[in-house]
Amino acid sequence: MTAQIISGKELRKEILDEVKLGVAEMKKKTGRVPGLVTILVGESPASQSYVRLKIKTALECGFHEIQDTLPANISEAELLARIEGYNNDPAIHGILVQLPVPKHIDEKKIIKAIDPDKDVDAFHPVNVGRLMIGGDAVRFLPCTPAGIQQMLLRSGTEICGAEVVVVGRSNIVGKPIAVMLAQKGEGANATVTLVHTATRDLPGHCRRADILIVAAGVPGLVKPEWIKPGATVIDVGVNRVGINSKTGKAILRGDVDFEKAKEIAGKITPVPGGVGPMTIAMLMKNTLLSAQLTLGITGDQVLDDADEKK
Ligand code: NAD
Repeated sequence: MTAQIISGKELRKEILDEVKLGVAEMKKKTGRVPGLVTILVGESPASQSYVRLKIKTALECGFHEIQDTLPANISEAELLARIEGYNNDPAIHGILVQLPVPKHIDEKKIIKAIDPDKDVDAFHPVNVGRLMIGGDAVRFLPCTPAGIQQMLLRSGTEICGAEVVVVGRSNIVGKPIAVMLAQKGEGANATVTLVHTATRDLPGHCRRADILIVAAGVPGLVKPEWIKPGATVIDVGVNRVGINSKTGKAILRGDVDFEKAKEIAGKITPVPGGVGPMTIAMLMKNTLLSAQLTLGITGDQVLDDADEKK
């Protein structure tokens, strides 16, 4: 039987509609809207296109959006001063520095300079620590892992007690999603295995997974025979494997052989149109949440009860 396709495009719309409602309610109660600044240093075409999409989505959601485009030769000190300005600006609830920054700027220093309470990407060490603790400590969930968790929840996938295998241990996807799904609480409570380049029996681990999350950046890494029949497969990989001669656009493939895998899995995400569209939606959700918390309007969080002993 062919798997149910979990569409990131459809879920993105659902989440953005919720964000728009939240913005309208905030405006009614306080006369204010969430503010997001997107800082782009230099002219990398890929970064420009990501930032354009973020700005467009923020404006659609009714946010106050500041687009701060800076020359590639801006000094680290100038960029830090700029960030400090936004840290102190009460109209700004989310600060986003598009990565990577030019080589003469220390990326870690930039991430650390952002006020953790405005760090809607959740890359600041304070937010990484909050995620590790879980429960009430969490302010923002990192956007791609948060998108994955929402795909599981909104597709009705049973997470509690499930065997989850995460392929890849990056700081932005593999490690945080593994921590999030292992926490005690709603949308979590899974038994998680994190596998990587030094794992001895990758196929054997994958075959055990009720939920298989693949974020390796290797096209077609996961073979169809590695998938447990009926499993939910979340393919995070976005790999450019060629150029479409008619459209001139990049041909994108995931880390899973989608066509064959969908005949075995119970649920699966496509590439493109899967996890990708969720990431920006979760960024908007985080910005709304930041404004709600700052203005004292109740927001929601997925990870509850993490400090309950069990
Ligand atoms: P990364 O390169 O930082 O990490 C990849 C991880 O995969 C590493 O931990 C490595 O150990 C592991 N890995 C690589 N090859 C492996 C192999 N053969 N066997 C086992 N483990 C292996 O990558 P990342 O930033 O986590 O991104 C992973 C993929 O997800 C990329 O294709 C990236 O483009 C994509 N991505 C998509 C989104 C999105 O929004 N859709 C967001 C982030 C990343």
